[in-house]
Amino acid sequence: MSDKDRDLRCAIVGLGPRGLGAIEALIVAMAGSGITTRIDGFDPVEWAGSGPNFLPEQTSQCLLNIPTREVDIAPAPALKLSIGDFEGWLANPAERDCFPTRARLGEYLAERFSQVVNSRPHGLVINRHTARIIDLDSCDEGLFLTSETERYGPYDEILLTLGQPETKPDDQMSRWLSHAAKCGAEVRPAYPDRKLLEYARNWAGRTIAIRGLGLSTMDVLRLLTVGLGGAFSDGRYIRSGQEPARILPFSLDGQPPVPKPVNEDLDQRFDITSAEADAFAAALGTAITGAPSDALDMICGGLVEPATRILHATGGQASVIAVKDWLATERENPGAQETRPPVEALRANIAIASGEVAPDVGYVIGQIWRKLQNVLRGGFNPTAIDTDTAAAIIGFDEGLKRYSYGPPLRSAQELVMLVEAGLVSLLVADDPDIELVGGGWRFREGDAELDSSVIVDAVIPPAILESLTEPLFLKLQEKGFVSALPDGLGLRTEPDGRLLGPHGKASPRPSLLGRMAIGSVIAVDSIHDCFGASAKRWANGVRSRRSG
Ligand SMILES: Cc1cc2nc3c(=O)[nH]c(=O)nc-3n(C[C@H](O)[C@H](O)[C@H](O)COP(=O)(O)OP(=O)(O)OC[C@H]3O[C@@H](n4cnc5c(N)ncnc54)[C@H](O)[C@@H]3O)c2cc1C
Repeated sequence: MSDKDRDLRCAIVGLGPRGLGAIEALIVAMAGSGITTRIDGFDPVEWAGSGPNFLPEQTSQCLLNIPTREVDIAPAPALKLSIGDFEGWLANPAERDCFPTRARLGEYLAERFSQVVNSRPHGLVINRHTARIIDLDSCDEGLFLTSETERYGPYDEILLTLGQPETKPDDQMSRWLSHAAKCGAEVRPAYPDRKLLEYARNWAGRTIAIRGLGLSTMDVLRLLTVGLGGAFSDGRYIRSGQEPARILPFSLDGQPPVPKPVNEDLDQRFDITSAEADAFAAALGTAITGAPSDALDMICGGLVEPATRILHATGGQASVIAVKDWLATERENPGAQETRPPVEALRANIAIASGEVAPDVGYVIGQIWRKLQNVLRGGFNPTAIDTDTAAAIIGFDEGLKRYSYGPPLRSAQELVMLVEAGLVSLLVADDPDIELVGGGWRFREGDAELDSSVIVDAVIPPAILESLTEPLFLKLQEKGFVSALPDGLGLRTEPDGRLLGPHGKASPRPSLLGRMAIGSVIAVDSIHDCFGASAKRWANGVRSRRSG
């Protein structure tokens, strides 16, 4: 039998949403090829399809950061699944403007995974293994995987979709962990949420600090309040008596993320026209070929016209100069435009997000940027970009995440209610000095000084190779399958996901999609990216290599 007649042997390590998106894309790409495709999927977790962030078993306190109507991940018609898009699956029109729980999306993804596996289209065999993979190697026969107990292979293709791999604690966290071990204080991760809730049952009356003031902090705040029996009612928080006495979130800039528009009607006011999207795509196309500073010039230039138009239309202050000034600051020092105390800024952004007042420049640019995320991926991801330019564009995108990854209005309103109830304090939120003291930590900012005996870590670690402890990545590094980008970015991959080692393009070699590829790709931390063009590029690459 010639190589061409043989089955395609493929392995996917990590069966979260991206693993599911890749399997679906491969089925579509291989359809009609006449080649039998054998996929071995590996993941130790029970729920395939959902991954840890959308685990169906998590509490209802963890919310999706987009409303139901924006979850745009319908399966390709060619898959012939009976499951449709998420909104149709929910079958409840009242959910359209709501931000569903992440558990609910996880149920949908798990059901979709089962349908894909059980649909058994002609020429496809999928085997699921509940094994954690710890090693990968290659020889003339192909690529192999190893778990604690078995070796699997040979494979023609291996795709790694591990999400955020295990990392070692950063220096600050290491200090806090050893201090906590000595003095009886506690440092706990924000997830898994049920585990945090277990710890929190012993925190009544204590002061709890939270490292981070992003979306995960919103989850933690709900867990430590509603999760412990409290309730929001008539615009205020009603204590259960089980919650901590005080909660102190803090971050490098002390500003909570900015809530998204409350409903579809309001959200549409920030829509960009297709001509504006095309103009931005063209500007981006030139930007990615230029030096970092020129690239940001082009990208910012592409935002001025739509921002000014939308500001005019929504009754905001609309001068081109104001928009350009705002963008100039954002490039140099993201978020430095915000000089108001956190609670004041939060209240102002709530008024904008609920449509009570006209949006300001930052809000408009932030919403435009959210709506351009797919255009951004479309221009950035298929292209090999100079590392410094890529880092500059990614830095700009990361800064604007305070808008583009904003929470539901409800979460922002709840945060204000918790501040008003005296349960949450933002007095030491802005990069406080933190001293190790007997029993825990002392936080100081300006005149304020507050002690806590617990720190909850709500910061997602960066995707840096040198901080990984995940055994599979240690092996990949040791064997020269991976090489890191500089400037705190992730791993080098080609546009179709194939990993580039320190010596370039070895063959055969595994592919990688998702968070660890940040730098080679952009805007990965989204459910849309899991089912988007990256998965299709990988699958098409597999087909073309196989078809020769
Ligand atoms: C707390 C949190 C909340 C988020 N909320 C949202 C949101 O609201 N909306 C949104 O669009 N995005 C959100 N994201 C971004 C989110 O990461 C992606 O949308 C999506 O979960 C990424 O999917 P993935 O398959 O790449 O990774 P994951 O979902 O992490 O899946 C990776 C899988 O790989 C498996 N695995 C890991 N190591 C191995 C190994 N060695 N062997 C075998 N299997 C392994 C894991 O068990 C896991 O199931 C959130 C992220 C976090 C961290």
